[in-house]
Amino acid sequence: MSTGKVILFSAPSGCGKTTIIKELLRHFDNFEFSISATSRMPREGEQHGRDYYYMSPEEFKAHVAKGDFLEWEEVYEGICYGTLKSEADRIWNNGHVIVFDVDVNGGKNLKKYFGSQALSIFVMPPSVEVLEQRLRSRGTESEESICKRLGRSAKELEESRHFDVTVVNDKLSVAVDETRRIVDEFLKK
Ligand code: ADP
Ligand code: 5GP
Repeated sequence: MSTGKVILFSAPSGCGKTTIIKELLRHFDNFEFSISATSRMPREGEQHGRDYYYMSPEEFKAHVAKGDFLEWEEVYEGICYGTLKSEADRIWNNGHVIVFDVDVNGGKNLKKYFGSQALSIFVMPPSVEVLEQRLRSRGTESEESICKRLGRSAKELEESRHFDVTVVNDKLSVAVDETRRIVDEFLKK
């Protein structure tokens, strides 16, 4: 694998990773989002090749067997997500900084893999109650899916110490400004 810088975002679902990453991508034009593969169905408005590479569980397993993933996780029972090696190569070949949105285990694994090339950022909600409100008001999940996500979040929130920095996403503009400042510092190193 060639070299380049990477920014990793991890947090329980609903904390605001996607929202903060979108703002960051508007600000830094040499940043590119790493499109993960997933075996979940697209949500309304999501697009193959923009939000995720959607694949059947069988296709996903075939990529696992071929060793195509840099990392992958069964994040929710029966639903897998993973970063294809080809995706990281594609972005670095474009000369861009890779931005990852991965679950907390994925974030820890990728940080180990990339070491000082990576800045790992944990996005923290102001409270568990606010996290639940945000997940519900996003309106993308069934009750079952919300419960799965909240069930996993308590354990994930305890993992913030494994990350280089934690950004509390209370007021969005404050969280985005802080993230930009932290990323600027990292890029100067
Ligand atoms: P994640 O990618 O971590 O699952 P999202 O970025 O999808 O989370 O955010 C979850 C929901 O919360 C979305 O509806 C988003 O618009 C909203 N949201 C994100 N950040 C904030 C914030 N600081 N204040 C209020 N709502 C927010
Ligand atoms: P969602 O279904 O809400 O898009 O994502 C669910 C969770 O899967 C989020 O925590 C997200 O960060 C994580 N995720 C997305 N892509 C990957 C990936 O490639 N690897 C890992 N480990 N987690 C991922």
